[in-house]
Amino acid sequence: MLTTREDAPETSTVKVYLPEPPTDATRGYIIEKLRRIFGDGVSISIDIDPSILGGFVVHSGDRLIDASVRGRIEQLERLLKAVDIPPWDKTADPRQIIRALKNALATATPGVREERVGTVASVGDGVVRVAGLGEAMIGEKVIIGDSVPASVLDLDESEAGCILLGPWSDIREGDVVRCTGRPVDVPVGPDLIGRVVNPLGDPLDGKGPIRSLRRRPIEGPAPKVSQREPVRTPLQTGLKVIDALVPIGRGQRELIIGDRQTGKTAIALDTILNQRDSGVICIYVAIGQKASTIAQVIKTLEDRGAMDYSLVVAASSSDPAPLRYIAPYAGCAMAEEFMYSGKDVLIVYDDLSKHAVAHREISLLLRRPPGREAYPGDIFYVHGRLLERAGKLTGALGGGSMTALPIVETLAGDISSYIPTNVISITDGQIFTEADLFFAGNRPAVNVGLSVSRVGGDAQIPAMKKIAGPLRLELAQYREHAAFAQFGADLDKATRQQLARGERLMEALKQRQYSPMPVEEQCAFLYAMTSPGIEELKLEDVPAFEVQFISFVRENYPGVLRRIKQAGVLSEEDMRLLSEAASRVRRDLLAQNHARGNQAKAS
Ligand code: ATP
Ligand code: MG
Repeated sequence: MLTTREDAPETSTVKVYLPEPPTDATRGYIIEKLRRIFGDGVSISIDIDPSILGGFVVHSGDRLIDASVRGRIEQLERLLKAVDIPPWDKTADPRQIIRALKNALATATPGVREERVGTVASVGDGVVRVAGLGEAMIGEKVIIGDSVPASVLDLDESEAGCILLGPWSDIREGDVVRCTGRPVDVPVGPDLIGRVVNPLGDPLDGKGPIRSLRRRPIEGPAPKVSQREPVRTPLQTGLKVIDALVPIGRGQRELIIGDRQTGKTAIALDTILNQRDSGVICIYVAIGQKASTIAQVIKTLEDRGAMDYSLVVAASSSDPAPLRYIAPYAGCAMAEEFMYSGKDVLIVYDDLSKHAVAHREISLLLRRPPGREAYPGDIFYVHGRLLERAGKLTGALGGGSMTALPIVETLAGDISSYIPTNVISITDGQIFTEADLFFAGNRPAVNVGLSVSRVGGDAQIPAMKKIAGPLRLELAQYREHAAFAQFGADLDKATRQQLARGERLMEALKQRQYSPMPVEEQCAFLYAMTSPGIEELKLEDVPAFEVQFISFVRENYPGVLRRIKQAGVLSEEDMRLLSEAASRVRRDLLAQNHARGNQAKAS
């Protein structure tokens, strides 16, 4: 509100900043002038701030009159930044630069600048409440004091709630808050590949500045329905249990959900490692994890060559809540840049439970009313608007895609609590990991009964689709019989056989970390594991069978693997060849066992 002479309250103050103490005559002059502008009732304080260099600054309520040398320099700086071609772009044509500069100068207002500003009403752990920021927008970047960036999260008539995106120890009540007219944005583009950055896009890896001149707002609209296409291309994770039973397509949003320490991150990491030759760019967003855990992930990606096509956005548990809160949006903006330039991107949010906690922290500090489990009412929207930005674009838009793998942690397998149910309903399916399976050694500990993929099946290659049907059926029957067998029931021969086959299948779906398997080999091996007679294979021989079978097929039937890989099909003839190979390798294993047994007896 503009304070006029008539309605100026008795107590309103006008602050004047000068670079050095004024003489008595100057002081008198200033006070007289200000009384004329702001009214006789105001109290006037004169502060010395050498950083304004020269001239003066006057601040009263939401009015800031800047006639300082520093203000003038800043104005010029802003001007240069707004020029279409930055003068530091060495490749640009000088004439073009001069033209751009002239255009910018023509729009510049010289000299004294008056702006509407807010003032810090209260400051606390990562958030500020600002009085009188009436012209700001939600998501706008504002600058507090000299340089601390913040983002507007809440707006009402008299106050704005902002989250601080920089060091806040020097912020005091009464500090000036300026609008920038721009949303919070981050650098985007190929320069980021191979880098580790914080949620503002500042490098954390000591590899020098990010040179990209392109930036993107961290919040943005999701592609419209008319801009999207159905998911049709597979995103191979390299994990048998997922590619066969819970397949993921490019542009899909698949949740990885489970208790702590059940291999959730491992699934996401293996998927990233498997993108080596797929042309998919990977973004790993770490939210609220211990710094040491994040360092471990980065080391894994580096050691295994995945940083050649990946980037990491990291906000650890020791980072302030605002950074943890904006991390997924920043990562998403970086992913969008690739998607809209026609590329395929995979983005992992690890994890959204901790993101929800960061949002809750901020909301409680901003005194928003808490809802269920003390989360603010808009938490569903917070995750919804993030995940909606993933998808597969139409050919007219370049045909790029963003596949999102959000991770959510559960407590004691409870998927019906607030955040899990929310995110389950936003995504196109979930991969459910279970502690019981994990500790029984079934790793990846995916519960195939509870895991689903609502769109990935359409993206599966026909060969895998052919195998997945019988595989799923056998596993379902196995689970049913296994439940009965627990009670020590008398089982007939057919049931015993089904149990034996199911046990072997479960064994076959186990996979070590960091050893992704190409889809054609997965098809061949899983086909072999559903072929007749496989129940005669000893359970403990399954891993050896896997290794020997794959190398046998590679050596003797490379054509089968090639046809699956290139055409995606598994013909009757190829199935016959694989069955033959399976019984051959099984016989060899029996013979090896036999020989070993004899050896043991002899010694
Ligand atoms: P948190 O809840 O702490 O984030 P998480 O669910 O992400 O845990 P991970 O960190 O991925 O779990 O895995 C937990 C441990 O299990 C790690 O030490 C990891 O190396 C191991 N692990 C995960 N998957 C496998 C696997 N397929 N084979 C063997 N070990 C595995
Ligand atoms: Mg994890």
